[in-house]
Amino acid sequence: MVVGELEVVPLLDAVGTLAELDQAYPDVPAEEWAPYRELYPELFAGSRWRLPVKVHVIRADGTTVLVDAGVGPPGSFSMWAGEQEGLLPAALDQLGVRRDMVDIVFLTHVHIDHIGWTTDAEADVFFPNARYLVHREALAFARSSPDRSHIRRCVEPLADRFEQLDGDAELAPGVTAFVAPGHYPGHMGLRLRSAGAEAVLLADVAPHPALLDRPEWVYAFDDTPQTTTRAELVADLADRDVLAICGHYPGTGVGRVVSRGARVVWEEAPSG
Ligand SMILES: [Zn+2]
Repeated sequence: MVVGELEVVPLLDAVGTLAELDQAYPDVPAEEWAPYRELYPELFAGSRWRLPVKVHVIRADGTTVLVDAGVGPPGSFSMWAGEQEGLLPAALDQLGVRRDMVDIVFLTHVHIDHIGWTTDAEADVFFPNARYLVHREALAFARSSPDRSHIRRCVEPLADRFEQLDGDAELAPGVTAFVAPGHYPGHMGLRLRSAGAEAVLLADVAPHPALLDRPEWVYAFDDTPQTTTRAELVADLADRDVLAICGHYPGTGVGRVVSRGARVVWEEAPSG
């Protein structure tokens, strides 16, 4: 997918079933999900949330940026039922991106499904030449639980290597990280602008596309309720020619936020 002169490639690392919907969204009655089951069938497994996890390669003026780092080697994520795991290395090979060609690994936040390939199964750095960028508050929060297995494997070995962001930051020409508070301390999204084209990588502002229509729904795994962040971003994206990208959405996860009757829906963009 191109955004002006930038290239954005989503790569699937894993798919699995996460929580019961009524654990993740305790205030939402089961029947309220019905329209979204029809719109986004691949995100449901009965009463559970079926979660694709994609990472993104962005090529910008000779700089290769990896946005988030997936679930990691198979078996890394004990809290979900994985259907497919550990796909990222082969996907990078297929794209012709060797690990040593990645210049920047940018982490939107430090949840287990976003950091898995910062290191390999032995906790050795996976992208040897990359600068690892993360918001200062996200890193501090993650490191406050150093004994959690994903923090021990994926964060602690790189502790001295992380470059810490304090706020919005341009990572490469046209690629700007912005603070999107709520889901995690220091949680960040990414705005892409090039040659009149625009895209927003939502990270986990609205990790289920139903939340674009119902931004007021409280998501139990948010650090603090982020309904305001979400509502503002939806208003900013709706019915504009801006690509809305999320690694947890169906298909490529690259699409647009559009009004359909009384609903706000996410529609996958034709690839190209
Ligand atoms: Zn996530």
